[in-house]
Amino acid sequence: MPKYSTLKPKVLLHVCCGTCALYPYFLLKKDFDVTLFYYNPNLYPEKEYVKRLEGIKTISKKYSIPLVTGKYEIKKWLRLTTDFKDEPEGGRRCTQCFSIRLDRTACTAKKLGFDLFGTTLTISPHKDHNIINSIGLELASAKGINFYQTNLKKKNGFKKTIELSKKLNLYRQNYCGCVYSKK
Ligand code: SF4
Repeated sequence: MPKYSTLKPKVLLHVCCGTCALYPYFLLKKDFDVTLFYYNPNLYPEKEYVKRLEGIKTISKKYSIPLVTGKYEIKKWLRLTTDFKDEPEGGRRCTQCFSIRLDRTACTAKKLGFDLFGTTLTISPHKDHNIINSIGLELASAKGINFYQTNLKKKNGFKKTIELSKKLNLYRQNYCGCVYSKK
């Protein structure tokens, strides 16, 4: 009998779309038991939310990855970001948007008994991984759960995930996701 458990830690990985989830999933699955978590109330219009969810469902089914889906709470998201609606991409609206999505991920991970939570948001070349990681760490400390810090765009992470997505013919969006970024 081994003296230690061979079970991998269970991570709830927040994902924003199928394309961005692919490379991170393959990277993390070496060390973690990964479950995907789709919670993106920022997405507009609703058909965009559904399209990205379809991409997630495709990879969940293809690679037998467990998937947990949150609610589409766009009214709540709009209310919580309204003060920053005129901010440029990368500004305070985005920080608030990361917080909303990661807060729900942390709470869900804690509630469902995961060892830690993480996000694929750091794979985007347009997003600052330092901001995302510091939000994750703050939430982790507040909720009493661990956060897995990443900078998934390094080592050509973004390019790699696009290549994997092309092979599966997954939907790839051309805007970040909210009504303001669509404009
Ligand atoms: S631009 Fe992207 S990260 Fe920023 S608020 Fe909109 S959806 Fe969220």
